[in-house]
Amino acid sequence: MTHKDYVRLAIRAAKESELEGGAAIGSVLIRNGKVIAIGKSLVWQSKDPTGHAESNCIRNACSKFNILDLDNTILYGTLEPCGMCLSSAAWANIPEIYFGAYRKDVEPANRYEIVDWGSETMGKKIRLHSGKQMRVGGVFCEKNVPSSLKIMQDGKRNPKFTKITFQ
Ligand SMILES: [Zn+2]
Repeated sequence: MTHKDYVRLAIRAAKESELEGGAAIGSVLIRNGKVIAIGKSLVWQSKDPTGHAESNCIRNACSKFNILDLDNTILYGTLEPCGMCLSSAAWANIPEIYFGAYRKDVEPANRYEIVDWGSETMGKKIRLHSGKQMRVGGVFCEKNVPSSLKIMQDGKRNPKFTKITFQ
């Protein structure tokens, strides 16, 4: 499975979220190549402003395994994580986060986000208590992009980066 495949699983969670009346944003947490938790954006249902897909995914994993440390997992989301979710991941010791769409591409008129927010840039500033450097990157790109990993390694945004749409 590639990063893109895992983002597709997050898209599936986003579709479920949308079907349940939430925002079409989803997240999955992977360990040893397997999904260990999913998260849906259920802010309204739970009347919880922190109920974002990624934070819910982290909550679900910690609750399921009765742990607080999610080292050696990878968090995938359909959308670039917000500051809260990025910090939640850091507190949970998650070393890698990949997402399907940049916030500015999906939600240009962002009402509450940090100005000039860039999770990839912020991720580079986060050193986890495991000692690992957090890695954050967008991976869902058009098919003519040779490798999503290459984009991450280059640290560049792909101009052909696409919006995720839900049918
Ligand atoms: Zn969030």
